[in-house]
Amino acid sequence: MDRSVPGRKAFALPQSDVPVQEWPDHVQMRDDLELPEVSQLEVIRYFSILSQRNFSIDTNFYPLGSCTMKYNPKINDELSNLPGLADIHPLQPEETVQGAIRLLKNLQDDLGEITGLPAVSLAPLAGAQGEYAGLLIARAYHEARGDAQRTVAIIPDSAHGTNPASATMAGLDVVTVRSDLNGNVDVANLRELSDSQTAVFMLTIPSTLGLFEPNILEITEIIHNAGGLVYADGANLNALLGIVRLGDLGVDICHSNLHKTFSTPHGGGGPGSGPVMVKDNLAKFLPNPVAEKRDGSYVLANPENSIGSINGFHGSFLIAVRAYAYIKALGLEGLQSVSENAIINANYIQANLRDKYNLPADRYCMHETVLSASRQKDRGVAGIDIAKRLLDFGIHAPTMYFPMIVEEALMIEPTESESKETLDHFIAVMRQIDDEANYTPELISEAPHDLPVTRLDEVTAARKPILRWAAIDSDDQ
Ligand SMILES: *Cc1c(COP(=O)(O)O)cnc(C)c1O
Repeated sequence: MDRSVPGRKAFALPQSDVPVQEWPDHVQMRDDLELPEVSQLEVIRYFSILSQRNFSIDTNFYPLGSCTMKYNPKINDELSNLPGLADIHPLQPEETVQGAIRLLKNLQDDLGEITGLPAVSLAPLAGAQGEYAGLLIARAYHEARGDAQRTVAIIPDSAHGTNPASATMAGLDVVTVRSDLNGNVDVANLRELSDSQTAVFMLTIPSTLGLFEPNILEITEIIHNAGGLVYADGANLNALLGIVRLGDLGVDICHSNLHKTFSTPHGGGGPGSGPVMVKDNLAKFLPNPVAEKRDGSYVLANPENSIGSINGFHGSFLIAVRAYAYIKALGLEGLQSVSENAIINANYIQANLRDKYNLPADRYCMHETVLSASRQKDRGVAGIDIAKRLLDFGIHAPTMYFPMIVEEALMIEPTESESKETLDHFIAVMRQIDDEANYTPELISEAPHDLPVTRLDEVTAARKPILRWAAIDSDDQ
């Protein structure tokens, strides 16, 4: 640390009035520890300044597609910190935590209502774990019917990356169905692929192109006629709340990320929650536990033919509290306006940038729009350069190079939280960047200019991360 001055200390202790004791050898972990020598004020300043370098939704616009970085009302954090909720223990006798189990039961019912899939387990700790649980349910369903040869998961090429990964983890063979020129599932191709091997068809909806699948009813019928189940990846429900219920579309199983749509701050890899929702006939396979009301009291029950426990206890309880508070505070009308505003905000951006950036699927989008920087690439400026240039304007980069079926993809999700002024600022900046691509492309390709660090070596950072502080810059860690 360059602020270190030999002999400077951050503390002052009174003179010791007891004899100094030697440390026993076996408790000494190392001979010497080269710690920086700084005053207390310098330590405080150092860490306060570092903390302000964090990029967050509480400080800046964060249009990171697929991640729904929206404003999470602080009151929901406060509620989840109430001692009666935060200080209870998962091993406490059920009669002492009736209110908590009741909250879980009510949240299950609300999520069942929102998705039209009434049987719910809140156990999964992330979206991907919700997918995994849902796919194990599909396998258990086929096995229970003596249909165990169904081992294929059909997944569109536009799917979220976790979908094929979860299907493989669940022991299924992944077969890819093409998207057509409009970004929809190629229905003819799906028809060819679905047969007596089909266990499940897994659809991200809205798709990762930010589009609603207009042929969804035909698709669910094709899969059901082939004897398979339909799984909807509803990680991001931000476009559907109170507008469309997945169960009404013929979906059998879905999961949703409470840490995206339902008010849990995320982005730092913190705790998540990915409840799994199913039709009534699949309820008996849900992961343990499911909150139920029996003879007037609330219990955590294990479904009859459960796929088992997928983690220690009953999921992320305090995230469930936030989601419940969020749903209750908004009510049906509030939830509907969340989705309506998320959709109109994304379309506003799309409509104001389509003359400058390529729009791979030229139609109204849902809660996010996927643009392509292919026209800027022709002028020597890649999608990643545009993303880096945005940082100079205090705007987080959009999701890039995903979905992979779009060249130089920029996936932009403004969310419902943002004002028209913020959207206008973003649009103006994106148009300015396109202009810079004509006259000063190096301004973009060398960005960011105004941040504490400029271009990082992202590959080495991911492959050889340095995870602890070291006094000397050693290459050999
Ligand atoms: C975020 C997301 C996931 C994965 O959720 P995690 O909680 O990160 O595991 C899956 N599908 C879609 C569509 C997503 O947006």
